[in-house]
Amino acid sequence: MAEAWTYQAAPSHEATGEEWTTQGIAVLTAGIVWDAVRVPYTPLGADLDRHADQGWRARPGTPGPVMSSGVPGRHFRFDKGRFSIVLPPAPPGVVPYIAGWSEERLLKCPITRRRVAPGIAYVDETPYDRDSFGVLWARYALRPKQRRGTPQLRNVHPYRQRRAMLNMMCQVCSRTPPDPHGPHLFLLRDSCGAVREGERTTSPPVCVPCAAISIQLCRALRGGRFVAAWARRVPAWGVVGPLHHPVTLRAVPGCQMEQVKYGSQWALWVRAARTMGELRDVTAADLDREFAALGRDRLEEEFARVAELTAVA
Ligand SMILES: [Zn+2]
Repeated sequence: MAEAWTYQAAPSHEATGEEWTTQGIAVLTAGIVWDAVRVPYTPLGADLDRHADQGWRARPGTPGPVMSSGVPGRHFRFDKGRFSIVLPPAPPGVVPYIAGWSEERLLKCPITRRRVAPGIAYVDETPYDRDSFGVLWARYALRPKQRRGTPQLRNVHPYRQRRAMLNMMCQVCSRTPPDPHGPHLFLLRDSCGAVREGERTTSPPVCVPCAAISIQLCRALRGGRFVAAWARRVPAWGVVGPLHHPVTLRAVPGCQMEQVKYGSQWALWVRAARTMGELRDVTAADLDREFAALGRDRLEEEFARVAELTAVA
C-alpha cells in the first residue's frame, strides 16, 4: 500500500520505481516526546535527515514573501534600542525548514467511513496515515529539495511542522535542541501580549540565531511585533485541520483549519494538517541577553550556517 502511495505522490513512474527499490519506505524517526512521524514516501529531501550531507550553497535573492527579503549591508537594530548589540544582517534567501513548496501539494484521497470505529478514513489507508493518538493526517507530497519547486513561505508543510514540533527542532534550520527536555524558545507574533502559561501554538520552536534572523526577515514579526518565551514542557494538545461532516463525510464549509483537541469528539472527524502544542512552565525570554551572550561574531557564523542549510538548492 505504501508503494502505491509512493507512486501516487511522485512525479514519474520510472523515478519512483527506482527510488522505491533503492531506498525503501521512509520513517522519520522521532518519539522523544510524542510519536514517530512515519511517512509512506521514499524520495525524501536530504534535509529531512539530520545526518544528511548539507552541501548546498546559499543563493541570495531567492524570491519569497516572508523570509527572503534580507537587506544586505543594512544592520538591524531593534527600533526601541532594545538590543545591546547590533545584530548582523540576516542572510537573504532563508527558506525555513517547515515552509511549504509549490510541488509539495495536498494529495487528493477519497475519504470513507472508518470501519473499526466512528470517524473518517482513507479508502487506501495505511498505518502511516495516523499519528499515535489515532488522528488521520492529510496526505501531502514530500519531495527532495531539487524537486520541490518554489518556496511558498506563507504555507507550512504538515509533515515538517509535525516533525519539528515532535522533536522540538528549530523551525528555520531544523536543528535539534541542545537538551531535549528543554526549555525551548518560542517566538510568536505579538497579537495579545506576552506568552501565557498554557498558550497553544502550531509554531515550532526556534534556536537563538534563527530568532535573530526571524525578527529581521519574517514579515509577521518585523517591526518588533513579536513575543518570546521559554517553555520547559510542550505537551501535545491536538491538531489543526479541516473537519468532515459525520453524515456526509464532506469537508464542513468554514471549518478548514479548526483546532481539535486529542480525545475530543471531533478528533474522529478531522484531517490533521498541523500539530498543536501547549506551552507549559513558561518564562519570558530576554532576547537581548541571548543575543549578547552569543555575541556578534558567533551570530555571524551561525547566520552563515543557517544560510547554507536553508538555501534553495
Ligand atoms: Zn535555527
